[in-house]
Amino acid sequence: MSATSDIAAGSVITRFAPSPTGFLHIGGARTALFNLLFARHHGGKFLLRIEDTDRARSTQPAIEAILDGMRWLGLDWDGEEVYQFARAQRHAEVAREMLARGFAYKCFATAEELEAMRAEQRANKQPLRYDGRWRDRPESDAAEGAPFVVRLRAPREGSVTIDDLVQGPVTVNNAELDDMVLLRSDGTPTYMLAVVVDDHDMGVTHVIRGDDHLNNAFRQLPIYRAMEWPEPRYAHIPLIHGSDGAKLSKRHGALGVDAYRDELGILPEALSNYLLRLGWGHGDDEIISREQATEWFDLAGVGKSPSRFDLKKLENLNGHYIRAADDAQLAELIVPRLGFEPSEPQRTLLASAMAVLKPRAANLLELADGAGFLFRTRPLALDEGAAGLLEGDARGLLSRVHAALHAIATWDTETLEAAVRAVAEDAGVKLGAIAQPLRAALTGRRTSPGIYDVLALLGREESLGRIADQIK
Ligand code: GLU
Repeated sequence: MSATSDIAAGSVITRFAPSPTGFLHIGGARTALFNLLFARHHGGKFLLRIEDTDRARSTQPAIEAILDGMRWLGLDWDGEEVYQFARAQRHAEVAREMLARGFAYKCFATAEELEAMRAEQRANKQPLRYDGRWRDRPESDAAEGAPFVVRLRAPREGSVTIDDLVQGPVTVNNAELDDMVLLRSDGTPTYMLAVVVDDHDMGVTHVIRGDDHLNNAFRQLPIYRAMEWPEPRYAHIPLIHGSDGAKLSKRHGALGVDAYRDELGILPEALSNYLLRLGWGHGDDEIISREQATEWFDLAGVGKSPSRFDLKKLENLNGHYIRAADDAQLAELIVPRLGFEPSEPQRTLLASAMAVLKPRAANLLELADGAGFLFRTRPLALDEGAAGLLEGDARGLLSRVHAALHAIATWDTETLEAAVRAVAEDAGVKLGAIAQPLRAALTGRRTSPGIYDVLALLGREESLGRIADQIK
């Protein structure tokens, strides 16, 4: 039985709390997905909070990039997103309440003083920690109107154990934590304070996030305890690593989900399925729909060790979702990649070509590339490989094919195949000796879908015209 199987239906509230960086990070997308699935699985709510306190980075485009990535991946959050910066007054109010309750105190130490303290700690090879110099000092010791920060009066004895839903029990000695700042001297809240106040006010019951935040949990819990707020359950999920085992970074390639969409032609269903499987498992199941994932998801299935990003696996899944996609919808996704605005009949042609194109494509780029021959204008420019196929007696064979195809009554794949085979037999050559030059003439390439499918898609007039162009 998993640690979360006794949760009352509808009681769960999770959140995703990204800091805007200009894109939705692939790791963030997975964190959001796990939060979404956990909430939905328990009939609860999944909330979104934009942690926009870094004013330089939190531009409107940077925020939009996150919302856009989430919508694209179907990471639909409940209600309006919360903006952290707008809640600064509330954060300060909680700091004041902690002061009043004696769980926080004013620290008047100057920057120079603290620098000297740290220099001494460094010299003595001690850990760099605030030494609590104002913890028990009366405010009256400070000069009138001197600037101060508000610090947490953190417990000094004992230890705290967090029963993390992924990591298991993790214990930290309180002696290792110092009295962190809650409110800066300009009255703005620190990140630690803001996160706790927001999570509490949003009613968050389960904090599911990257394990780079595990240490923060030990700093955040004392705030809950001081305020006598119900504590959330924590689940810290291992980060995603690159294929070389190192933490995912720029040099591993795409980091934002938008790059997977725009530059790699990945479908959202495929990326979502891939991210789900990256760090969570359900037996050997690889292809898991969102619906199925919602039914199965639990934190017990999240592994403790970092998972490695594998583009090949993602492309395999993408190929699956491309093959399963609706042809008309797929064609619409290809349109912006064609390089021109297709007419209505061209759109219809594109959609009808999907059935033969999609088994060959691992991403939308390949799919668009494969569809290119449909819209080339005559006479076709042949690429180098295709031109090579038209050397020797290929043109003579093409003439015979042209005559045979010209004579057929119904332009369907069976009739076309019978006609081409008859020419090969008649000429005493292998089918390939005809099919390859034919492919070159029809598509300008060495590779394409099956030649009869190509003929059927292009239609009688266009096919005969393209063949004739190469015989002349
Ligand atoms: N804003 C933090 C981040 O983007 C996440 C904070 C949290 O989940 O508690 O890493």
